[in-house]
Amino acid sequence: MQVEKISALFDAAERIAVLSGAGLSKASGIPTYRDNGGLWTQEGIIRFSSAAELKKNPEGFRDFWAARQSEIKVAQANPGHFALARLQLLRPAVTLMTQNVDGLLMKAEATGVLELHGSLLRDRCGSCRAVFPSLDEASLAQGSRCPSCGAATVRPDVVLFGENLDARISNAAKQAAKSSEVFLLVGTSAVVYPAADLAKLAVAQGAKLVIINLEPTPLDHLAAAVIHGRTEDTLPRIIELMTSEAGIVRLPSEPHRQLPSADAAQPSVLASLSRWLSRRN
Ligand SMILES: [Zn+2]
Repeated sequence: MQVEKISALFDAAERIAVLSGAGLSKASGIPTYRDNGGLWTQEGIIRFSSAAELKKNPEGFRDFWAARQSEIKVAQANPGHFALARLQLLRPAVTLMTQNVDGLLMKAEATGVLELHGSLLRDRCGSCRAVFPSLDEASLAQGSRCPSCGAATVRPDVVLFGENLDARISNAAKQAAKSSEVFLLVGTSAVVYPAADLAKLAVAQGAKLVIINLEPTPLDHLAAAVIHGRTEDTLPRIIELMTSEAGIVRLPSEPHRQLPSADAAQPSVLASLSRWLSRRN
């Protein structure tokens, strides 16, 4: 069984690197690039994801992204995000990297997330480079000015086509991939840069590759374990297995004793998860 195998690989690894993509956030109502519906039409996404369009049509650009930013602000983390946050509590060194710009791993209280493509929850100023939480609708109505310098050059803090990844973040991602013992690709078909490169880099340095994605990926043949399934179902099952095997020590004098668990240190993760589950039912 692949779930057992992946759980054992995680249990045996000190350093785990995880790269997540759109499939992880789909259950939170964030459409993937491939979905062709609602506001996120393929045409609009392609047009307004380019740095050229920002120069050519700053107002249209601003309106397009402002609508998406309001959707993202109210989106909630799903069990897949919570499971990855939990993995950070169970193993000594888990680096989470994501191609997603929705901030949902942070809403699940994951820490040190490397957001390769930035975040729609932030804006930045094209003039003074200040970075701040994305402007609310009132500020937008007043002309979306930078709170630091007042310039009308505010834009989402995301990487557009034609722009480079933040060097500091991409170097940290390469480092995490190189030093990982297990590299997990989750919710991505690994065709968008830099997913495939990071996974191959990890494999070249001896990491075991694990893939969890709804559909087959071009890297499946390199993987030590592959699950084609929903991330929001699969990840919690893997983490649950790790917890049930690691969390209980049987002693002769007592029927069982719970080890000081991650839950005690981070009650809010479980609280958030149960809130999510109760909303879902
Ligand atoms: Zn500014």
